[in-house]
Amino acid sequence: MNQDTKERSHLLSLLKKFFGYTSFRPHQESIIQDAMSGRDVFALLPTGGGKSLCYQLPALARPGLTVVVSPLIALMKDQVDALQSAGAPATFLNSSLDPKESGARYHGLHLGEFKLLYVSPERLLLPGFFDDLERWQVCQFAIDEAHCVSEWGHDFRPEYRQLRAIRERFPKAPFMALTATATERVREDIVEQLQLRNTAVHVAGFNRPNLTYRVEHKDSPFSQIIGLVNRRQRDSGIVYCSSRKATEDLASRLVQSGVSAAAYHAGLPPEDRSRRQEAYLRDEIRVMCATIAFGMGVHKPDVRFVIHYDMPKNLESYYQETGRAGRDGLPSECLLLFSPGDFARQLHWLDEKTNPEERKIALAQLTHMRNYAESPNCRRVDLLSYFGDEYYEHNCGSCDNCLSPKESWDASIEAQKLLSCIFRVKQKAGFNVGLTRICEILLGSSSAKILEWGLNDISTYGIGKGIAKATWQSIGRQLIRIGLVGMEMERQTIFITPAGWETLKSRSEVILTKSAAPQKQSIRSAGSIECDEALFEKLRQLRKKLADERGAPPYVIFSDVSLRNMAREYPKNNTEFLRIPGVGDKKLEEYGDTFMHSIADYLQTAPKVNFTGGPTDPYASSSSNNLGGNKSHSEERVGRAALSSTVLQSLEMFEAGQNITQIAQNRSLSAETIYGHLEKVIRAEVPMELSRILSPLACQEIAEAVKNFDGTQMKPVVESLGGRYGYGQCRFYVAWTEMAADGKLPPPDSLGLNPSQD
Ligand code: ADP
Ligand code: ZN
Repeated sequence: MNQDTKERSHLLSLLKKFFGYTSFRPHQESIIQDAMSGRDVFALLPTGGGKSLCYQLPALARPGLTVVVSPLIALMKDQVDALQSAGAPATFLNSSLDPKESGARYHGLHLGEFKLLYVSPERLLLPGFFDDLERWQVCQFAIDEAHCVSEWGHDFRPEYRQLRAIRERFPKAPFMALTATATERVREDIVEQLQLRNTAVHVAGFNRPNLTYRVEHKDSPFSQIIGLVNRRQRDSGIVYCSSRKATEDLASRLVQSGVSAAAYHAGLPPEDRSRRQEAYLRDEIRVMCATIAFGMGVHKPDVRFVIHYDMPKNLESYYQETGRAGRDGLPSECLLLFSPGDFARQLHWLDEKTNPEERKIALAQLTHMRNYAESPNCRRVDLLSYFGDEYYEHNCGSCDNCLSPKESWDASIEAQKLLSCIFRVKQKAGFNVGLTRICEILLGSSSAKILEWGLNDISTYGIGKGIAKATWQSIGRQLIRIGLVGMEMERQTIFITPAGWETLKSRSEVILTKSAAPQKQSIRSAGSIECDEALFEKLRQLRKKLADERGAPPYVIFSDVSLRNMAREYPKNNTEFLRIPGVGDKKLEEYGDTFMHSIADYLQTAPKVNFTGGPTDPYASSSSNNLGGNKSHSEERVGRAALSSTVLQSLEMFEAGQNITQIAQNRSLSAETIYGHLEKVIRAEVPMELSRILSPLACQEIAEAVKNFDGTQMKPVVESLGGRYGYGQCRFYVAWTEMAADGKLPPPDSLGLNPSQD
């Protein structure tokens, strides 16, 4: 056995022994290997990606002490509890401990009894603490929530800035910085501020396959919320509200309706806040109605839904906040309630921002957020592309738009009316106005301003009667989104873009979408584990009882993933119990008998249900974070019959002679989406004309770029092409070559596209 294989099997044995897992999640293993080799590591994994294990396992695998810096005192206890209950020697030091308890822990540290020490940054910087660390032989520093070091992040902590002092004092100890924060700027800042060197950088995709995304029009918010809350009777969730008062009102209405709920916001006294947070973690409060103050500290792995009562200020916040659902990988849902009125209200608040630069940025972000809410595209594609990440499948199967695509309609006449109205107003008044005003004019309103400016005289005045104002506004916003109308950010006035003029003059067809009807069918997201639900419930109650006895949150005992696997495998001896994901040596010893007893007891009165496939990890059943090179296509059906209706629609338009830009425009979809559709077409082995999609030069350039990278990550390929070709084009090309390699399509160069023949 060579050294590498030996180290690998050692790590795997520790993984099972302490954590009860038999395999690594994506990126974990390479992060751990880099850490073991003594390098500095920067790890960006989405929430629920399994960051903790990345420093915990090396800490257990090598001599010395690993110091974990974490900003959240409230969380340290649970983290250390979880480690201890897995048999890992860990402790923490922070201001919550009395002197006697601290003293005992120091003593243990002096004796080398611990492998992991959690500290707050403040503690680390106390005088004399570095001397202690020296005596304890620190072998690694792990900086959790490393984005706190950056002023550009959303959780800047000034104390984090001083962490560089550790670097100076312990130049030999490697650092590991971990975060789930996505922006490039923050990433760079972390590397710089912590003075990381020769850093092994690991960046995972941002996709959260187990989350489903939905946007509903905010018609009757309370019944929409309680509808979801009641549908998920036993599940925990968060409802984000934009004001303190709203959290309180909502919580009390939920309580009146018999739901265990509470409010959480920064205006509450600290004791109340921590009491409520704790009750939530312990499953004593089921629904937390919170402002964004309920944030980073929410490490509860089984939050099953996140509802946004109000639209967040930007997509990044939306991603972070929804990201708190489903850390454990089991299916969880995100619902955004949106109304254009909320958008207007937020715009109004923006006016209070005095700094024009700040206001401009905030406005752009808000607009992006609204576009997301109103988009007919796959939510996952939209959300991920905001972070420069690409989602490979063009029907994710777990967002509202993919499950019930919005109905499209021929809005050519309405678009003509709206565009000409913008033109006539400008002609008459000499300036542009906002969308609302245009709608009023179309409807023939006689508001004071309209009369004052003489706009009741123009030819488009009142030509839109018979269509609701909300519909006109939606038409206007869609015209903005597809680029026929532009909006001047500062004053929100609208104008006709060159593409809009073109449409106006050529009277070309404009296809828009109708707002979606409320969802009826249920969405199935990735990561589900089928099990005997009655037994699962019984085991949950047992877990809660044991957790209460220990004064710990239930998930510290076993995760839902473990319980669901118990409720499908019915383990009856130690060997079988050890096969359950999440069961390591210590958990077996401590809880094995109790749980197996409860299962045996259940089987006295109920029959076993048969499930095929053995124990499962949600990650195994969910689509991976892979950005390209999807492997599952071979199992798919082929031919036109295999194509979904939306893909077929694009194909038919393509076959009727439209190019990609035209199809995209006519369907109000992005060109990226259309490339995705056409990619589906060729993957289903339906032949098409490559030269109409990619020119010989494009094929040549993309082929060159792909050669330089490993082909699974599309981002570097696209970047190296300097914006000349997008993800859709690159992926389409790669798909073609893959199909050609399997002999299912002719190779690109056999089609007269060989660059040398150019
Ligand atoms: P993060 O900090 O990145 O949000 P956590 O470290 O809290 O994620 O891990 C999320 C969940 O994934 C936890 O319930 C953890 O036990 C589980 N987990 C981590 N690594 C693995 C693995 N290799 N196999 C199975 N489950 C894992
Ligand atoms: Zn989707």
